[in-house]
Amino acid sequence: MKKAFIVLFGPPGVGKGTQAVVLSERLDYEHVSTGDILREAVKDRTEKGLQIRDFMNRGELVPDSLVNSAVIEKIDKSKSAKGFIFDGFPRNLGQAKEFDKILKSSGNSLDVVINIELDREILLRRIMGRRICSKCSSTFNVELDNIPGDGSCSCGGKLVVRSDDNESVITERFRVYADLTEPLLKYYNERDILRNVDGSGTVAEIASRIKALC
Ligand code: AMP
Repeated sequence: MKKAFIVLFGPPGVGKGTQAVVLSERLDYEHVSTGDILREAVKDRTEKGLQIRDFMNRGELVPDSLVNSAVIEKIDKSKSAKGFIFDGFPRNLGQAKEFDKILKSSGNSLDVVINIELDREILLRRIMGRRICSKCSSTFNVELDNIPGDGSCSCGGKLVVRSDDNESVITERFRVYADLTEPLLKYYNERDILRNVDGSGTVAEIASRIKALC
């Protein structure tokens, strides 16, 4: 059966993760965050996990072979899903081409790439305001005013600052985005599956703009 495949695209801090959660609940699709998958692997403290942590803490991309195989594994595991929402993948041309191959091999294709746009100044504020649950990886934001009153997640986990959300690593993540990830906009625009969305406003406002395109 043909499945739906949506990519949420945009620079670090634009809100891809937050919007992917909202959209996956509304459409009943599987949410695939390669950042979350990699952070889980880091928690295992295996040799592979420690290598991944070093790439992430430097703000660099984790090698394609690792990320691509994690994506294949996630799609295979979610056989009953009607569709998938990717957040943080693909992040370079190699991953985008591999993604096309993976989808083609199962008779699928990418339906739409939603590019969320926001000024650099606001992005920085959002990144600095981001808190993540140490247990379930849910994301909250001081800037968007959705931090739970008692400062902990509903799962009971503690809210912490992500280890790569500090100024020097953020500068590198923006550089990596501009050099390797942003060029994908041209790749998807040429296929006429790219849609731009204004990333300013509240979570609900941005979500309804995205929903209108899916
Ligand atoms: P994110 O949670 O999407 O902001 O990703 C956090 C970090 O995880 C990135 O800065 C990369 O180090 C790594 N990462 C996430 N997704 C990918 C990907 N598709 N390819 C390579 N590295 C990734």
